[in-house]
Order: sequence, then C-alpha cells, then structure tokens
Amino acid sequence: MSLRFDGPEGGARVQAALSLAFSGGRVPHAVLLEGEPGSGTEKLAAVLARACVCLSEGDRPCGVCAGCRKALAGSHPDIFTLDGDKDPRAFPVDEIRRIRSDAFVRPNEAPRKVFVLLGVQNMPEISQNALLKILEEPPRNVLFLLTATSAAALLPTVRSRVQVFSVAGGGLPTDWALAESLARAVFASGEAELQFGAAALPADREAFRSTLRQLSLLFRDALVRRSGGGGCLTGRESTVAALSGGLTRLSLIRMAEETEKALRALERNANAALLATAFCAGLRGAAGR
Ligand SMILES: [Zn+2]
Repeated sequence: MSLRFDGPEGGARVQAALSLAFSGGRVPHAVLLEGEPGSGTEKLAAVLARACVCLSEGDRPCGVCAGCRKALAGSHPDIFTLDGDKDPRAFPVDEIRRIRSDAFVRPNEAPRKVFVLLGVQNMPEISQNALLKILEEPPRNVLFLLTATSAAALLPTVRSRVQVFSVAGGGLPTDWALAESLARAVFASGEAELQFGAAALPADREAFRSTLRQLSLLFRDALVRRSGGGGCLTGRESTVAALSGGLTRLSLIRMAEETEKALRALERNANAALLATAFCAGLRGAAGR
C-alpha cells in the first residue's frame, strides 16, 4: 500500500521514511513516533492507524471506505488506544497484559489490529517490560503504534524492538557549545568543572533534554571511534577525538548509560536542578574520576 497523509504533519522526510516502511504490503510490527508536543506525532499515528484498517486497494487511508469512516469516528473495533499524554497513568501493567492477550485474537474486520499507545514516556517500567514480551514475539497482523516525546524515555530493550521515526520539530539545536564543554569537563582534574557544568545545565526542560541528547550522541560517536569505527554522527570531531582518546570503552558505555538514565528521569518529571547535579556526579563516576 502507499500512504496518503492529510497534510504536512511530521515533515516530508518522515513522511517519506514512513511511506517506505509501509510500502509493498509491508507493515512493521511496532513503530515509535518520537517528537516534542505539537510536532505532529499524534496526527501521524492517526493516519497510520487508519491506513492499517483501510479497505481500499489504492492509497491508504482512502478516507471513504467503511474502515476509514469508523476509524475517523473513533469507533473502529480493531483500533485500540491508550493516551498517556492526556492521562499519565494510562498504562497500568494490567492494561498492557490485557492488550497482550487481545493481540493474539484475530482482527474483527480489518486486515490488522492496531494498538495506539500515545505518550509512552509516561509508561512505567513494569508495564514496559510487559509490553516487551509481546514485542519480542509479535502476533501476525498486529501493529503497535507508539508516540513519545523522546525514544530515550523507553527501556533500551523496548526501544530495540520498535522502528523509531523522529519527527521534525523535535530536532537538536545546532549549538553544541554546552554539550561539548560538559563532555570535556569530565576530563578536568577538579570537581569544580563538573559542578560548574551542573549549574550550566539549563533549567528549561526542553533545553535540558536537547543537551542530554547531544551528549548521548557525542558519547555514542566516541564509543564507535574507540571501537575502531569511522563516521561521526555529530560532526564534532575534536570533542569526539578527545573523548575516545582519553576514556576507556567501558567508561564511554557507562557515560552513555548515565545520559540515557538522566533522559528517562527527566521524562518522568524529576527535579531538573537535582537531576543535573546527580547526572554530573554520575558522569564523573563513569569516567573513573
Ligand atoms: Zn479507507
């Protein structure tokens, strides 16, 4: 099938990537649309859900078949939605277990069943682990459609089982100065530099998250370099060279883990100032300083 989008939601790049993933009769079994609030992830999820229950032979969703009409009315029996953006407590583990057994029941009338889980940054770990079990052995003809402000909010095990599409609007800032100076502060001999780093981490949650994501990419680049790989996603050559030259592989792995941990804590509304201090201490420990 070819996808038909309602409008420019998500941006041309993401629409093209999704069209490719859903082309030629292929449907992934789990998709995560990652993006800041207002970036269009929810709209994209709605289009994909409709496309999966659309009965048209042409581009989907056609908008006129019985499947599309029911989906638009919110009454399609094969689309099941939990909204963690509206209600952060939308994902109790019992609910995920119920989804798990329901996923093995054949679709009622559509070619496939769709489970739409919005705002999964609010899904507790116990529920994520329940979800993981089904993502590991997905039933046929089922699509799990997730949205999150950041893929980092999910457990790495869950993340590795979903196809992630990052939606425009949730992009990284082009200014790397803060992330680079923080990464380099890890080398400094005294504690003062890292305390300064913690103080410099923005109190604004969006900016804080962006900086953490930049750091995560820097550590990943350094790890690739340390393991003998080429390529540099961030393009921050000198910082990546400094990190990979000055730290062990294990330290870099731990620093990447600390960053992911901080991102998850931030998604769960941890106090930003306390988190910044704990994060910098964690980095220091990971670096063996
Ligand atoms: Zn249709």
